[in-house]
Amino acid sequence: MTHQVKSSGLGYPRIGEQREWKKLLEQYWHGNIDDNAFEDTAKSLRLDNLKKQVAFGLDVIPVADNSNYDHVLDTLAAFNLIPTRFGSYNRPLTLNEYYAVARGNKNNVAADMTKWFNINYHYTVPEFDHTQPRLLENRWLKYWQEAKNELNINGKPVILGPITLIKLGKLNGDYVSNSESINQLLDQILPLYVQVFEELQAAGVEWVQLDEPTLVKIEDDSEVAPYQRAIEALRAAAPQLNIELQTYFDAIDPYEAITKLPVQAIGLDFVHGHDENIENIRQFGFPEDKILAAGVIDGHNIWAANLDEKLALINDLKKSSSALWIQPSNSLLHVPITKKYETQASPELFGGLAFADEKIQEIVNLTKATNDQDVTEAFEENRQALRQLKESAARNNEAVQAAIAQLPDQKFERQAVYAKRQLKQQKRLNLPKLPTTTIGSFPQSSEVRAQRAAWKKGKITDEQYQQFIQSETKRWLKIQEKIGLDVLVHGEFERTDMVEYFGQKLAGFYATQNGWVQSYGSRGVRPPVIFGDVSYTEPITVKETAFAQSQTDKPVKGMLTAPLTIINWSFVRDDIPRATVQNQIALSLRQEVNNLEEADIKIIQVDEPALREGLPLKKRHWQNYLDEAVYSFKITTTGVRDDTQIHTHMCYSDFEDIIDTISNLDADVISIETSRSHGEIISAFEKVAYDKQIGLGVYDIHSPRIPSVDEIAENIRRGLKVINDQQFWVNPDCGLKTRTEEQTIAALTNLEEARNRVLSELTVASR
Ligand code: GLN
Ligand code: ZN
Repeated sequence: MTHQVKSSGLGYPRIGEQREWKKLLEQYWHGNIDDNAFEDTAKSLRLDNLKKQVAFGLDVIPVADNSNYDHVLDTLAAFNLIPTRFGSYNRPLTLNEYYAVARGNKNNVAADMTKWFNINYHYTVPEFDHTQPRLLENRWLKYWQEAKNELNINGKPVILGPITLIKLGKLNGDYVSNSESINQLLDQILPLYVQVFEELQAAGVEWVQLDEPTLVKIEDDSEVAPYQRAIEALRAAAPQLNIELQTYFDAIDPYEAITKLPVQAIGLDFVHGHDENIENIRQFGFPEDKILAAGVIDGHNIWAANLDEKLALINDLKKSSSALWIQPSNSLLHVPITKKYETQASPELFGGLAFADEKIQEIVNLTKATNDQDVTEAFEENRQALRQLKESAARNNEAVQAAIAQLPDQKFERQAVYAKRQLKQQKRLNLPKLPTTTIGSFPQSSEVRAQRAAWKKGKITDEQYQQFIQSETKRWLKIQEKIGLDVLVHGEFERTDMVEYFGQKLAGFYATQNGWVQSYGSRGVRPPVIFGDVSYTEPITVKETAFAQSQTDKPVKGMLTAPLTIINWSFVRDDIPRATVQNQIALSLRQEVNNLEEADIKIIQVDEPALREGLPLKKRHWQNYLDEAVYSFKITTTGVRDDTQIHTHMCYSDFEDIIDTISNLDADVISIETSRSHGEIISAFEKVAYDKQIGLGVYDIHSPRIPSVDEIAENIRRGLKVINDQQFWVNPDCGLKTRTEEQTIAALTNLEEARNRVLSELTVASR
């Protein structure tokens, strides 16, 4: 069997090496440049990205993966599927009209955004109500032509597939999931895809990449039907156009049904769905008439691949397929662009990093090796780099490893059961019924940001900065006392991003200099890199918290971020199990919790906002993930006395299916972000008997609107219908970092008054 092996890309980061993209967008939004100037720069960025990929030697180059904001929004705009409040069009949207959807305008709120599968990218949620789909612009053809004319590249347009587009969207407020709605929407949308494919074929395009990542979420053959219907129609309309059906982020379950679909290449993820995809190929083989597009390089993480291992995997896959493409596991959009600016990384760490550009080089080198070209040097370098990282002191902390080895011999449980703890805590804290508190952060004013910037630039001393933080804390303690809140917080003024803050204080983390990844639109994040064994080297929050407690007679709640959230928002080393890294962090935080207790902090909150969003895509993997989360939370929190009260906080509403996990955390008090879907949460509590204390957020902090006393009181009363008044806390639904001082004080004042009103109703009722 002659074997053709090529290298292929799935998509390239949009933001530019020096975040040129962000600067361009902001200039345009501020009105500093006009549409033409915008288009010129955007085009040169697009072409630069393509030139780089060609220069690296990539064979199959993705095109039209660029976006002015988000690729789901692009698809909606091309098909006249934007939310109806932004109008209906019969010509391509102008930039201004497009950005109105993304960012809102004076008449309309922006289209909703949500997480792209289980990663930290946000897409525009389609709203399919009253849509009149119509092809306004074949953007895939346009960008294919641009690459062809300007650079003579016969690129592979990347198109978000129709079924995934439909399933990512909402119809009358709910995500589209039943096959009837899917088919009805497909009736409307499919003809547009057909037209796009016909035009691509007519122009001489050879390959399209049809992204259908929702294929990894379906479980059985019957659910393949709508994908099949769409693909058959596209195939019939454009029989000369080759389709690469691309899946990513996990393995596919209905393997046989999917691999039988009439496409010419199938893209599978051999990083995140490695074992199951391999098992399927072993069991069922791979069709001889198709290319196996093998995602072997991790498109989610920033580590150099072990090229020897990858080559072995490729050789294995070669045996089961007649033709192979070697590619990343998913679009490189989700990793930073190049490691060359990481000048502060130690040589061991630097050698072990691979950002997008280095990943493309790995793909090209693996392809060369497979085609018997000489890449001995690259392989030798790779072996050395991995050896050095493996042997580095950072990855060989014996004390940490010994502590991890001892975990199985230990029990991480509170000394007494909740009911007993509760009595002791109440005796010590003496809180009223329906106690009031907040979630932790107070407004990070421009003053706070300016002082931090000045301190980072060395313009003010450590001492001056700390004094400023303390004065801000003092000021907000006074505000909280004046309002009358029962449990106070120090306000988190020392933290910008909480995960970044904890990363800076723990050993084993590296803060990148230029490791930006697009989170949405112009917004980038720079996730910390967890590269070594994590250990506790100094107290993290003790000083700030103890200072706050010294200023007031009311209890001040300590404020930490839980291990799983730290992991989910970081790039995590992949040489040991994630759970081990999580437990290393947990052991460190356990020391912090104990130190807070030692400093006379009686209440400690350990936030786990990312628990739900990090859930694996397949339900059968949930339990293990949740068990690991509970375990690391308990390592963190169980070293305290019975009368120390542990709180936790989570930012989501949809938690009916994980309520057992929430209870298993054994936190004395949990606060949940609920104000936007109060009804559902309440009904969840009608079904389960939750025995610990709970704060259902009684107003939405994401809006600048000040909630009225009546409205908050009503939310409290609704909560009290399902939760006992001995268990109920009154708090906003999340941190107040992004609100203004005025809004915060007004809202909390109303919250306090609403609590007092409901409290007096209770007293009257019990008389
Ligand atoms: N304690 C954090 C805060 O108030 C919680 C953040 C979060 O839930 N995302 O900002
Ligand atoms: Zn929150």
